[in-house]
Amino acid sequence: MTATVLGIADDRALGGTLRVIVTRPRSLADAKAAVDEVVSAIDGAASRFREDSELSRINATPERQVTVSPMLAQAIAAALRGADLSDGAVDPTVGTAVRLAGYDSDFASVLKEGGPLRVHAERIPGWRAIRFNAATRQLWMPRGVEIDLGATAKALASDLAAAAASKVIEGGGVLVSLGGDIAVAGDPPAGGWSVQASEDSSAPIEDGEETVSIDAGGMATSSTTVRRWTRGGVVLHHIIDPATGQPVAGPWRTATVAAGTCVDANIASTAAIVMGEGAVEWLKTRGLAARLVDREGQVTRVGAWPEPASSKLAPNVL
Ligand code: AMP
Ligand code: MG
Repeated sequence: MTATVLGIADDRALGGTLRVIVTRPRSLADAKAAVDEVVSAIDGAASRFREDSELSRINATPERQVTVSPMLAQAIAAALRGADLSDGAVDPTVGTAVRLAGYDSDFASVLKEGGPLRVHAERIPGWRAIRFNAATRQLWMPRGVEIDLGATAKALASDLAAAAASKVIEGGGVLVSLGGDIAVAGDPPAGGWSVQASEDSSAPIEDGEETVSIDAGGMATSSTTVRRWTRGGVVLHHIIDPATGQPVAGPWRTATVAAGTCVDANIASTAAIVMGEGAVEWLKTRGLAARLVDREGQVTRVGAWPEPASSKLAPNVL
Protein backbone atom coordinates (compact mmCIF):
# COMPACT_ATOMS: atom_id res chain seq x y z
CA MET A 1 0.00 0.00 0.00
CA THR A 2 1.35 3.42 -0.88
CA ALA A 3 1.07 6.19 1.68
CA THR A 4 -1.24 9.08 0.77
CA VAL A 5 0.66 12.11 -0.49
CA LEU A 6 -0.65 15.07 1.45
CA GLY A 7 -0.74 18.72 0.48
CA ILE A 8 0.15 20.99 3.40
CA ALA A 9 -0.15 24.80 3.71
CA ASP A 10 1.17 26.61 6.79
CA ASP A 11 0.27 30.16 7.69
CA ARG A 12 -0.60 32.32 10.69
CA ALA A 13 -4.12 33.35 11.66
CA LEU A 14 -6.13 34.47 14.72
CA GLY A 15 -2.92 35.15 16.68
CA GLY A 16 -1.54 31.65 16.16
CA THR A 17 -0.60 29.02 13.64
CA LEU A 18 -2.82 27.83 10.79
CA ARG A 19 -2.24 24.52 9.03
CA VAL A 20 -4.37 23.12 6.21
CA ILE A 21 -3.79 19.57 5.00
CA VAL A 22 -5.55 17.90 2.08
CA THR A 23 -5.33 14.33 0.84
CA ARG A 24 -5.38 15.54 -2.80
CA PRO A 25 -2.51 18.03 -3.12
CA ARG A 26 -3.85 19.57 -6.32
CA SER A 27 -6.80 20.89 -4.27
CA LEU A 28 -4.59 22.63 -1.73
CA ALA A 29 -4.91 26.17 -3.09
CA ASP A 30 -8.71 25.93 -3.27
CA ALA A 31 -8.92 24.45 0.21
CA LYS A 32 -6.66 27.15 1.64
CA ALA A 33 -8.71 29.90 0.00
CA ALA A 34 -11.93 28.49 1.50
CA VAL A 35 -10.27 28.27 4.92
CA ASP A 36 -8.93 31.84 4.69
CA GLU A 37 -12.39 33.16 3.94
CA VAL A 38 -13.91 31.53 7.05
CA VAL A 39 -11.01 32.56 9.27
CA SER A 40 -11.21 36.17 8.20
CA ALA A 41 -15.00 36.19 8.78
CA ILE A 42 -14.51 34.84 12.32
CA ASP A 43 -11.76 37.36 13.00
CA GLY A 44 -13.97 40.24 11.90
CA ALA A 45 -16.89 38.98 13.97
CA ALA A 46 -15.40 37.60 17.16
CA SER A 47 -11.88 38.92 17.79
CA ARG A 48 -11.37 40.66 21.10
CA PHE A 49 -8.03 42.06 19.91
CA ARG A 50 -9.37 44.04 17.00
CA GLU A 51 -11.11 47.26 17.96
CA ASP A 52 -13.09 47.15 14.74
CA SER A 53 -14.46 43.64 15.25
CA GLU A 54 -18.18 43.25 15.74
CA LEU A 55 -17.57 41.76 19.19
CA SER A 56 -15.33 44.65 20.33
CA ARG A 57 -17.95 47.16 19.25
CA ILE A 58 -20.64 45.30 21.17
CA ASN A 59 -18.45 44.95 24.26
CA ALA A 60 -17.92 48.72 24.18
CA THR A 61 -21.64 49.54 24.08
CA PRO A 62 -23.52 47.56 26.74
CA GLU A 63 -27.21 47.79 27.63
CA ARG A 64 -28.31 47.98 24.04
CA GLN A 65 -30.35 45.50 22.10
CA VAL A 66 -28.31 44.53 19.01
CA THR A 67 -28.89 42.11 16.18
CA VAL A 68 -25.60 40.33 15.64
CA SER A 69 -24.31 38.87 12.37
CA PRO A 70 -24.99 35.20 11.62
CA MET A 71 -21.30 34.41 12.21
CA LEU A 72 -21.15 36.09 15.63
CA ALA A 73 -24.51 34.53 16.50
CA GLN A 74 -23.06 31.09 15.82
CA ALA A 75 -20.01 31.82 17.95
CA ILE A 76 -22.10 33.17 20.85
CA ALA A 77 -24.51 30.25 20.63
CA ALA A 78 -21.58 27.81 20.74
CA ALA A 79 -20.09 29.60 23.75
CA LEU A 80 -23.38 29.60 25.65
CA ARG A 81 -23.91 25.94 24.83
CA GLY A 82 -20.45 25.28 26.26
CA ALA A 83 -21.37 27.16 29.42
CA ASP A 84 -24.53 25.12 29.78
CA LEU A 85 -22.80 21.76 29.14
CA SER A 86 -19.94 22.54 31.52
CA ASP A 87 -22.17 24.04 34.19
CA GLY A 88 -20.40 27.36 33.79
CA ALA A 89 -16.79 26.10 33.88
CA VAL A 90 -16.49 27.48 30.36
CA ASP A 91 -18.10 30.90 30.38
CA PRO A 92 -17.82 33.66 27.75
CA THR A 93 -18.23 36.41 30.37
CA VAL A 94 -14.60 35.91 31.49
CA GLY A 95 -13.63 38.84 29.24
CA THR A 96 -12.96 41.39 31.99
CA ALA A 97 -11.15 38.83 34.14
CA VAL A 98 -8.88 37.77 31.26
CA ARG A 99 -8.02 41.40 30.54
CA LEU A 100 -7.41 42.28 34.20
CA ALA A 101 -5.10 39.25 34.52
CA GLY A 102 -2.93 40.95 31.89
CA TYR A 103 -3.99 39.23 28.65
CA ASP A 104 -5.11 42.46 27.06
CA SER A 105 -3.77 42.21 23.53
CA ASP A 106 -2.76 39.64 20.96
CA PHE A 107 -0.55 37.22 22.94
CA ALA A 108 2.55 38.14 20.94
CA SER A 109 2.26 41.67 22.43
CA VAL A 110 1.53 40.65 26.04
CA LEU A 111 4.57 41.62 28.18
CA LYS A 112 6.17 38.45 29.50
CA GLU A 113 7.04 40.18 32.76
CA GLY A 114 5.56 43.15 34.52
CA GLY A 115 4.90 44.82 37.86
CA PRO A 116 2.39 43.45 40.36
CA LEU A 117 -1.29 43.64 39.50
CA ARG A 118 -3.93 44.82 41.91
CA VAL A 119 -5.58 41.62 43.05
CA HIS A 120 -9.04 41.50 41.66
CA ALA A 121 -10.65 38.29 42.83
CA GLU A 122 -14.32 38.20 42.20
CA ARG A 123 -16.75 35.84 40.58
CA ILE A 124 -17.27 36.76 36.93
CA PRO A 125 -20.70 38.12 35.85
CA GLY A 126 -21.72 34.72 34.53
CA TRP A 127 -23.19 33.62 31.22
CA ARG A 128 -26.76 33.85 32.46
CA ALA A 129 -26.32 37.63 32.58
CA ILE A 130 -26.30 37.66 28.76
CA ARG A 131 -29.63 37.73 26.98
CA PHE A 132 -29.36 36.08 23.60
CA ASN A 133 -31.99 34.75 21.24
CA ALA A 134 -30.34 32.48 18.67
CA ALA A 135 -33.38 32.53 16.37
CA THR A 136 -33.59 36.33 16.09
CA ARG A 137 -29.84 36.87 16.78
CA GLN A 138 -30.82 39.54 19.33
CA LEU A 139 -28.22 40.18 22.02
CA TRP A 140 -28.37 42.29 25.16
CA MET A 141 -25.52 42.60 27.63
CA PRO A 142 -25.51 44.27 31.02
CA ARG A 143 -22.92 46.95 31.81
CA GLY A 144 -19.66 45.52 33.10
CA VAL A 145 -19.81 42.36 31.01
CA GLU A 146 -17.21 41.71 28.33
CA ILE A 147 -17.68 38.67 26.17
CA ASP A 148 -14.55 36.68 25.33
CA LEU A 149 -14.94 34.01 22.68
CA GLY A 150 -11.29 32.94 22.84
CA ALA A 151 -12.21 29.39 23.82
CA THR A 152 -14.87 28.96 21.14
CA ALA A 153 -14.22 31.10 18.08
CA LYS A 154 -11.03 29.38 16.96
CA ALA A 155 -12.62 25.94 17.27
CA LEU A 156 -15.72 27.08 15.44
CA ALA A 157 -13.51 28.53 12.71
CA SER A 158 -11.76 25.16 12.36
CA ASP A 159 -15.07 23.30 12.06
CA LEU A 160 -16.52 25.77 9.55
CA ALA A 161 -13.28 26.03 7.59
CA ALA A 162 -12.88 22.25 7.29
CA ALA A 163 -16.49 21.94 6.11
CA ALA A 164 -16.09 24.81 3.63
CA ALA A 165 -12.81 23.45 2.26
CA SER A 166 -14.23 19.97 1.93
CA LYS A 167 -17.02 21.40 -0.20
CA VAL A 168 -14.76 23.19 -2.66
CA ILE A 169 -12.15 20.49 -3.16
CA GLU A 170 -12.63 17.58 -5.52
CA GLY A 171 -13.17 14.77 -3.07
CA GLY A 172 -10.64 13.57 -0.56
CA GLY A 173 -10.26 14.92 2.91
CA VAL A 174 -9.12 18.05 4.72
CA LEU A 175 -7.70 18.85 8.13
CA VAL A 176 -7.65 22.39 9.52
CA SER A 177 -5.65 23.27 12.61
CA LEU A 178 -5.90 26.72 14.14
CA GLY A 179 -3.35 26.87 16.93
CA GLY A 180 -3.99 23.19 17.67
CA ASP A 181 -7.78 23.39 17.41
CA ILE A 182 -8.24 20.69 14.80
CA ALA A 183 -11.23 19.80 12.63
CA VAL A 184 -11.34 17.26 9.82
CA ALA A 185 -13.84 16.74 7.01
CA GLY A 186 -14.26 14.48 4.01
CA ASP A 187 -12.57 11.13 3.48
CA PRO A 188 -9.59 10.72 5.80
CA PRO A 189 -6.28 9.32 4.56
CA ALA A 190 -5.72 5.58 4.98
CA GLY A 191 -5.33 4.92 8.70
CA GLY A 192 -6.96 8.23 9.65
CA TRP A 193 -5.50 11.64 10.40
CA SER A 194 -2.53 11.13 12.65
CA VAL A 195 -2.33 13.86 15.28
CA GLN A 196 0.55 14.43 17.68
CA ALA A 197 -0.58 15.14 21.22
CA SER A 198 1.64 18.08 22.23
CA GLU A 199 1.22 20.63 24.96
CA ASP A 200 2.41 23.37 22.62
CA SER A 201 0.60 23.58 19.28
CA SER A 202 3.74 24.91 17.62
CA ALA A 203 5.82 21.90 18.72
CA PRO A 204 7.47 20.20 15.73
CA ILE A 205 6.11 16.86 14.54
CA GLU A 206 8.65 14.33 15.74
CA ASP A 207 9.14 10.58 15.76
CA GLY A 208 8.54 8.97 19.12
CA GLU A 209 5.93 11.54 20.23
CA GLU A 210 2.51 10.28 21.27
CA THR A 211 0.10 10.32 18.33
CA VAL A 212 -3.52 9.29 17.91
CA SER A 213 -5.59 9.16 14.75
CA ILE A 214 -9.06 10.47 14.05
CA ASP A 215 -11.33 9.93 11.04
CA ALA A 216 -13.91 12.62 11.74
CA GLY A 217 -14.82 15.42 14.13
CA GLY A 218 -12.22 17.39 15.96
CA MET A 219 -9.59 17.59 18.61
CA ALA A 220 -8.60 20.51 20.84
CA THR A 221 -5.98 21.26 23.43
CA SER A 222 -6.12 23.75 26.28
CA SER A 223 -2.95 24.43 28.17
CA THR A 224 -1.64 26.78 30.81
CA THR A 225 1.97 26.18 29.76
CA VAL A 226 2.23 28.38 26.69
CA ARG A 227 0.05 31.47 27.19
CA ARG A 228 1.54 32.50 30.52
CA TRP A 229 3.27 35.60 31.88
CA THR A 230 4.40 37.04 35.22
CA ARG A 231 3.29 40.12 37.09
CA GLY A 232 5.20 41.06 40.23
CA GLY A 233 6.79 37.60 40.28
CA VAL A 234 3.41 35.81 40.16
CA VAL A 235 2.90 33.43 37.25
CA LEU A 236 -0.40 34.04 35.49
CA HIS A 237 -2.00 32.32 32.51
CA HIS A 238 -4.98 32.64 30.22
CA ILE A 239 -7.52 30.17 31.57
CA ILE A 240 -9.79 31.76 34.15
CA ASP A 241 -11.72 29.99 36.88
CA PRO A 242 -15.15 31.64 36.63
CA ALA A 243 -15.64 31.08 40.37
CA THR A 244 -12.74 33.36 41.32
CA GLY A 245 -12.04 35.44 38.22
CA GLN A 246 -8.39 34.38 38.57
CA PRO A 247 -6.22 32.05 36.48
CA VAL A 248 -7.09 28.44 37.32
CA ALA A 249 -4.90 26.83 39.96
CA GLY A 250 -5.96 23.23 39.37
CA PRO A 251 -4.08 19.98 38.87
CA TRP A 252 -3.99 19.90 35.03
CA ARG A 253 -1.65 21.99 32.95
CA THR A 254 -2.84 20.56 29.61
CA ALA A 255 -6.01 18.85 28.40
CA THR A 256 -6.51 17.39 24.92
CA VAL A 257 -9.95 16.11 23.97
CA ALA A 258 -11.36 14.44 20.84
CA ALA A 259 -15.05 14.93 20.08
CA GLY A 260 -17.62 14.99 17.28
CA THR A 261 -16.73 18.60 16.44
CA CYS A 262 -13.79 20.82 17.26
CA VAL A 263 -16.16 23.14 19.15
CA ASP A 264 -17.20 20.30 21.44
CA ALA A 265 -13.61 19.15 21.87
CA ASN A 266 -12.69 22.71 22.77
CA ILE A 267 -15.53 23.15 25.26
CA ALA A 268 -14.37 19.97 26.95
CA SER A 269 -10.66 20.80 26.95
CA THR A 270 -11.13 24.23 28.51
CA ALA A 271 -13.71 22.81 30.93
CA ALA A 272 -11.28 20.06 31.97
CA ILE A 273 -8.62 22.61 32.97
CA VAL A 274 -11.17 24.59 34.99
CA MET A 275 -12.85 21.56 36.60
CA GLY A 276 -9.61 20.00 37.84
CA GLU A 277 -10.06 16.58 39.50
CA GLY A 278 -13.75 16.52 38.62
CA ALA A 279 -12.92 16.63 34.91
CA VAL A 280 -12.18 12.90 34.68
CA GLU A 281 -15.69 11.93 35.75
CA TRP A 282 -17.29 14.67 33.64
CA LEU A 283 -15.41 13.53 30.51
CA LYS A 284 -16.16 9.85 31.16
CA THR A 285 -19.85 10.51 31.66
CA ARG A 286 -19.95 12.21 28.26
CA GLY A 287 -18.03 9.41 26.57
CA LEU A 288 -15.20 11.73 25.54
CA ALA A 289 -11.64 10.56 24.96
CA ALA A 290 -9.09 12.82 26.60
CA ARG A 291 -5.45 13.12 27.56
CA LEU A 292 -4.77 15.15 30.69
CA VAL A 293 -1.30 16.23 31.80
CA ASP A 294 -0.81 17.27 35.41
CA ARG A 295 1.59 19.91 36.69
CA GLU A 296 4.37 17.34 37.08
CA GLY A 297 3.90 16.07 33.54
CA GLN A 298 2.08 12.85 34.54
CA VAL A 299 -0.41 11.78 31.89
CA THR A 300 -3.94 10.52 32.61
CA ARG A 301 -5.78 9.00 29.66
CA VAL A 302 -9.56 9.11 29.86
CA GLY A 303 -12.20 7.04 28.04
CA ALA A 304 -11.16 5.69 24.67
CA TRP A 305 -7.89 7.64 24.55
CA PRO A 306 -5.36 4.91 23.62
CA GLU A 307 -2.22 4.09 25.52
CA PRO A 308 0.80 5.21 23.45
CA ALA A 309 1.75 2.51 20.96
CA SER A 310 5.11 1.11 21.86
CA SER A 311 6.68 -0.07 18.65
CA LYS A 312 9.87 -1.27 20.32
CA LEU A 313 9.88 -4.78 21.73
CA ALA A 314 12.40 -5.73 24.36
CA PRO A 315 12.84 -9.50 23.87
CA ASN A 316 13.67 -11.38 27.00
CA VAL A 317 16.70 -13.70 27.18
CA LEU A 318 15.80 -17.26 28.15
P1 AMP B 1 -8.63 27.47 25.21
O1 AMP B 1 -7.22 27.67 24.80
O2 AMP B 1 -9.49 26.88 24.17
O3 AMP B 1 -8.75 26.75 26.52
O4 AMP B 1 -9.28 28.90 25.41
C1 AMP B 1 -8.71 29.79 26.33
C2 AMP B 1 -9.14 31.18 25.97
O5 AMP B 1 -10.54 31.32 26.27
C3 AMP B 1 -8.42 32.21 26.78
O6 AMP B 1 -7.34 32.73 26.06
C4 AMP B 1 -9.50 33.25 27.05
O7 AMP B 1 -9.61 34.10 25.94
C5 AMP B 1 -10.76 32.41 27.12
N1 AMP B 1 -11.04 31.85 28.45
C6 AMP B 1 -10.26 31.80 29.55
N2 AMP B 1 -10.88 31.17 30.55
C7 AMP B 1 -12.09 30.81 30.10
C8 AMP B 1 -13.22 30.15 30.68
N3 AMP B 1 -13.22 29.70 31.93
N4 AMP B 1 -14.32 29.99 29.91
C9 AMP B 1 -14.34 30.44 28.62
N5 AMP B 1 -13.32 31.07 28.03
C10 AMP B 1 -12.20 31.25 28.75
MG1 MG C 1 -8.96 25.88 22.52
